Amino acid sequence: MASFESSETAFILQCPNCKTSVVFSAENIYRPFCTQRCRSIDLGLWTSGSYAIPDVLEDSEQNNLQ
Ligand SMILES: [Zn+2]
Repeated sequence: MASFESSETAFILQCPNCKTSVVFSAENIYRPFCTQRCRSIDLGLWTSGSYAIPDVLEDSEQNNLQ
């Protein structure tokens, strides 16, 4: 993998998460990802934040009722 020497040069790469074509440029603040969502997933913010924990709590609550 070549190193990125210039932030001025724009080129196309694939989002590491969803494989969507992404313009790698200084204007794309989510690079090398396509969106903030994909970047958050890669950082683990999606699963450890507002998504997984409420689901687990809800599940154990149902188990207690049964
Ligand atoms: Zn993506």
